[in-house]
Amino acid sequence: MLLTLTTTHRPATDLGHLLVKHPDRVHAFDVPVGTAHVFYPEAGEQRCTATLLLDVDPLKLAAARGRGRGRPAATTPESFTLGRYVNDRPYAASSLLASALSRVFRSALRGESRDRPELAASGIPLEVRVPVLRCRGGAEVATRLFTPLGWAVSATALPLDEQQPQWGDSRYVDLTLTGTLRVADALNHLYVLLPVLDDAKHYWVAPDEVDKLLRAGAGWLADHPERGLIVRRYLAHRRALAGQALERLAAQRPTDEPVADDGVDDAPTRESAPRASLAARRREAVHAALVEAGAHRVLDLGCGGGALLATLIGDRRFTEIVGTDVSTQALALAARRLRLERLPERQRNRVTLWQSALTYRDDRLRGYDAAVLMEVVEHLDPPRLPALEDAVFGHARPATVVVTTPNVEHNVRYEGLPAGAFRHADHRFEWSRAEFAGWAERVSATYGYSAVLRGVGDDDPEVGAPTQLAVFTRT
Ligand code: SAH
Repeated sequence: MLLTLTTTHRPATDLGHLLVKHPDRVHAFDVPVGTAHVFYPEAGEQRCTATLLLDVDPLKLAAARGRGRGRPAATTPESFTLGRYVNDRPYAASSLLASALSRVFRSALRGESRDRPELAASGIPLEVRVPVLRCRGGAEVATRLFTPLGWAVSATALPLDEQQPQWGDSRYVDLTLTGTLRVADALNHLYVLLPVLDDAKHYWVAPDEVDKLLRAGAGWLADHPERGLIVRRYLAHRRALAGQALERLAAQRPTDEPVADDGVDDAPTRESAPRASLAARRREAVHAALVEAGAHRVLDLGCGGGALLATLIGDRRFTEIVGTDVSTQALALAARRLRLERLPERQRNRVTLWQSALTYRDDRLRGYDAAVLMEVVEHLDPPRLPALEDAVFGHARPATVVVTTPNVEHNVRYEGLPAGAFRHADHRFEWSRAEFAGWAERVSATYGYSAVLRGVGDDDPEVGAPTQLAVFTRT
C-alpha cells in the first residue's frame, strides 16, 4: 500500500519540516498491522516527494482483526476461512493506510511544524498519488469527494486484468489529486476519505470514532456536499453514530461569524499555562488597540491566512476591513477560511482582500483609520524596511498604525530553540526591546507619529514578554 505526497513549493525539501521526517533518511514505524515506512524518492530544491509505504503482515492483520475491540473474532464471517489471511488488504489503500498516516504524521495532521509554522499554515502546491485505491462506486465517487475540497482529481479505473480488457474494470482506481492546500488539510482529507472510498473498515467502529471523524473533519466536513455519504461510510453504516455525527456537524455550519483560528503559534514550545495561545493573545491585543484608537476602517497589512481578519469581522464596529498580502496563496487561504463567498452580502461587503507589496506605495491604502502590521516587519530584509516605512507611514498615513514583532530577548525561554536562532525560518531579523524602541522612535520622528510600546504574552521580569507591540498615533 503506497501513497506519495509531492510538492513544488521552493525549497521543496521544506516538505521534510512539514511532515517532521527528514528527507535524507528512511523512517520505519511499527503499526498494529505491520510496518510503515516513510522515504523520499525525490528530494530536490524544486520538487520533493515523500512516500508512505505500508507493509502489511497478513498474520498481524488477522490478529488485529481478531482483537477487534470487543467484537468476538468468531462472529467475523471471514474468521474461519483462508480469506482472513489471503485478501487484498495488504495491497490496496484503505483504512489501514489511513491509520498508518495518522500514526506516522501525527503533528503534521494537526498542522504543527516547529521549524516551518507559517508554511504549515499556508497552502502549498501539492500532488497526492495513491496508485491502487479500492474505491466503492468507482472513480466518480472519488471525484465527488475530493473536488469540493479544492483538489483537481484524476481517478482512473484499473482494469481487472490488463490482458483481458473485455473483463472490464476492477474496483480499484489510480488516484491523483493536485491542488494548493495546507499539508495538514491534505492529510486530514486522506485520513477520512481513504476509508470512506474503501467502505470497509478493518476495525470495529467504537463511539469515539465520531470524535475522531469530527476532529479530522474540522473546517471542511460540515460544509461538504457529500457529508452524508462520508459520515455513513466512515462510521461503517452504524445509523445511530452517523446520526450523532451529522447533528454535531449541523451545529458547526457557518453562521454570520466566521471563526478562523489556525491554532498555529510561532512559539516553538507552547506556553505551559492553559491560556490562549500567543497568537490568540496577539490578536486580542491588536484588536484592543484598534478599539482604543476608535478605528472603523482598518487595514491588515500582510494578513497571511486571515486569522486577525476573522476577529475583526466578528466586531461590528469595524465597517471596512481590508486584508493585503504579497502572497496570493495567503490571500486564497484567507478567502477560503473566512468563507467570504458564504457570508451574507452585507457582511461580505465589509471585507476586501488585495494583493499588495508593502515595499511599494499603493494609493488604495490611503484614507484608512488604522493599519496593522502583525508579525510582518521581521519578514523583510532590513534594507527593504525603509521602503515599507515610506509606503505605510509616509504614503498610506493612517491615523493609527499597530505593529507587533517578536522580542528576541525572550527566545532564551523557548526550550528547543538553539541559541541565536530565530523563531521562524523566514524571519530576517528579530529585535530586542531596545532595538524595537529605537526603530519606533526613528519612524515616529521621521513621519510625524508618536509611539507607545507594550508587551504581549506573559511578561518575564528578565527578558520581557514574547511579543512586542507598538501603537503609532499620527501627531
Ligand atoms: N499578519 C499575519 C501573517 C504574518 S506572516 C499573522 O500575524 O498571522 C507574514 C506575512 O507577511 C506573510 O503572509 C507574508 O506573505 C507577508 N509579507 C511578507 N513580506 C511582504 C511584503 N513585502 N508585502 C506584503 N506582505 C508581505
